[in-house]
Amino acid sequence: MVEDSHNKAAIKGLDPEFKFEVIQAGGEGLSACYQCGTCTGGCPSVEDMDYTPRQIIRMVAFGMREKVLNATTPFICASCYLCQMRCPRDVKITDVMAAIKSISIKYSNSSGNTKGQAFYTSFNEIVYNLGRLFEPMLMLKATFRSKESFGNKIKYLIKSAPLGIEFIKHRKFPLKPQKVESIEEVRKIYENVRRMEAEK
Ligand code: SF4
Ligand code: SF4
Repeated sequence: MVEDSHNKAAIKGLDPEFKFEVIQAGGEGLSACYQCGTCTGGCPSVEDMDYTPRQIIRMVAFGMREKVLNATTPFICASCYLCQMRCPRDVKITDVMAAIKSISIKYSNSSGNTKGQAFYTSFNEIVYNLGRLFEPMLMLKATFRSKESFGNKIKYLIKSAPLGIEFIKHRKFPLKPQKVESIEEVRKIYENVRRMEAEK
């Protein structure tokens, strides 16, 4: 009896349709995963992820929609395709990560901006507007856009300040934004990608 209520509680909150949503958005083959962990073993970004690639594939298959859409893993993924190349079951892991990222951005207004979403959205906004990245602006925009409390945002900025100063001292951060001459070309790339995504 107790076990039954535990099972019901575990199943509650799962979305069996989520897997199909991810497949539809381009994440093919995830049902074939047999959890060998090859993807995770070779992933260069795994140390910074909150869930490993293997776990994410499993979580999608289980329908853990909310957890997956709030995970930082797909945003940390460097899209290097190493896992996808090595997967013995031909799971399109990198494409699964991209699909989750795009669904996560689509629903970010309802679930709030996770750090990953905030970083990704801010990065693209700056590159679209300036034609290139301006790191100090990225740091501020991503921090204030995230769903962290105001106090945590300020704490994070204070904690990051010494590193930012070191970057500026070593000329790794520009002090003012620079626009690229061919900005229209950059914007065209963004607009084409947005159009292609809307057509999916
Ligand atoms: S390498 Fe492929 S089969 Fe193995 S855990 Fe990763 S996704 Fe699953
Ligand atoms: S594509 Fe992403 S998940 Fe796969 S190995 Fe590269 S960084 Fe890791």
